[in-house]
Amino acid sequence: MHVARFWHAEDNNRVRCQLCRHFCLIAPGKRGLCGVRENISGELKSLVYGRSVASAIDPVEKKPLFHFHPGSLSYSIATVGCNFRCLHCQNHHISQWSIDHGEIPGDYLPPVDVVRRARSADCLSISYTYTEPTIFYEYAHDTAILARKAQLKNVFVTNGYISAPALDEIAPFIDAANIDLKGFSEKFYHQVAGAKLSQVLDSLRAYRKHDIWLEITTLIIPGKNDDPAELRDLATFIYDELGPQTPWHVTAFYPTWKLLDSPPTPPETLTRVRDIGLEVGLHYVYTGNIPGNAGENTCCPQCHRVVIERHGFSLHNIHLHGGCCTYCGTTIDGVGLGDLDESGSESVQ
Ligand code: SF4
Repeated sequence: MHVARFWHAEDNNRVRCQLCRHFCLIAPGKRGLCGVRENISGELKSLVYGRSVASAIDPVEKKPLFHFHPGSLSYSIATVGCNFRCLHCQNHHISQWSIDHGEIPGDYLPPVDVVRRARSADCLSISYTYTEPTIFYEYAHDTAILARKAQLKNVFVTNGYISAPALDEIAPFIDAANIDLKGFSEKFYHQVAGAKLSQVLDSLRAYRKHDIWLEITTLIIPGKNDDPAELRDLATFIYDELGPQTPWHVTAFYPTWKLLDSPPTPPETLTRVRDIGLEVGLHYVYTGNIPGNAGENTCCPQCHRVVIERHGFSLHNIHLHGGCCTYCGTTIDGVGLGDLDESGSESVQ
């Protein structure tokens, strides 16, 4: 067990965790909401340091990140645990494990070995993903520092509930983040995720202050968070507070886990939501989870021609030179796009 960061002692041997915005008050022998931080005799411990429960080599597009070193590979790791209770969690078998089962599974994979594996697999980055990286902060933090020394980038795929002090400390080592903005009403966040929208918005503002490339994802669930006026407000928040260059991924829901009473998202709904984002003025809005949909392509925000065509996680027909649209010369926002050369119909990955 690893002594946790970001907590202080309270009365009666209780501790207050300050890692995420739940700020759990934890009695001796108990765990926080995430199920992976335990008060052991008045000291908060992380139960998941170095306990990898999932690892894989993924295209960075899978995170999804479309404007961060497109076509590169990212070594992806997770531990069990999450500070949200999303009814539709696709990874509930690992995110909610410690809540359901108590014990902590996982193979011992210390930070130095994560970095070694990433390098030997020719990955450009390490992604902290699948569950919620905030709750395995100490593991992610130590890995990210080693990764940076080894010339690797670091990527957070997160629900955006980290506390401001914890973010301030890890931000210098994080290069990109995909953050879920799951909806735009407190009611939805409370009922579906067990969290507060206002806290997520504050966290997004905090991320924006750091030098981290941001992309936002919203899973559109019919009847739950698909109100057009609400989604317009969400897109306006991105535009006003994060900037029009921030890519927005609107992705299709499929019934899963505890959310079986909503139907799959119709493709035409996603297209309408994408249109809302573009009308608000966002430069890059993508549809996701519907392979072959034209909404996966990157279009130049100036001349609107397709500059990167995507089929799933593959890139084709790249019309970029030095990170600029080859048709009109406009710079396409992002990091590492200058590494992609115009390549006709070649498949990059
Ligand atoms: S990280 Fe876990 S223990 Fe700490 S405040 Fe968040 S949910 Fe609670």
